[in-house]
Amino acid sequence: MVLQMHVEFTTRLPNWLTEMLNHSAKHFPTREDRMRFVNALARENVKSKTGGPFGAGVFDSSGCLVAPGVNLVELSNCSILHAEMVAIALAQKNLGRYDISDNGKCNYELVVSAEPCAMCFGAIPWSGVARVVCGARDEDARSIGFDEGPKLHNWVESLEERGIQVSLDVLRRESVDVLKLYVQLGGAIYNPGIGRKTDPA
Ligand SMILES: [Zn+2]
Repeated sequence: MVLQMHVEFTTRLPNWLTEMLNHSAKHFPTREDRMRFVNALARENVKSKTGGPFGAGVFDSSGCLVAPGVNLVELSNCSILHAEMVAIALAQKNLGRYDISDNGKCNYELVVSAEPCAMCFGAIPWSGVARVVCGARDEDARSIGFDEGPKLHNWVESLEERGIQVSLDVLRRESVDVLKLYVQLGGAIYNPGIGRKTDPA
């Protein structure tokens, strides 16, 4: 039985991130600069205990931040709020269109601290992003206990067949360090229907 029949849902970025946006740079000229920024988001999300060890951002073709994202699953009690989904949703809101490419006229880049899971992989083609840049690998997330879901083995090729470029292993070690920090601090592994906690070894 439901507690209350809600008819809308909203979410918002953690306060530390909205404050960060007031002070931090919004322009990140290189791919590594952009990855460093989303890794910093992931790290702060872990340290602030506002969600899982994942950060993301949508950037325009000149490297300007369009929308950031962090994992908000626990904070919002919502399993779809992975960092990529949050960044994509906020980019769509900021740009005022569900196809952020504006029918192929604009090239936006989604930068993620870890490879997209099955859900986020599925969401990427519908978002209109032209390029995906990843830090940690799928196996890095799995190694600390996250289930990345039934993603296609040839997910990179399948996105590229749709005209979406994919770059892997950009500052991968920095991204993996955030995953390790999450384990060290005893962060929850919120896989479906399992509810187990990490061993804070
Ligand atoms: Zn995901």
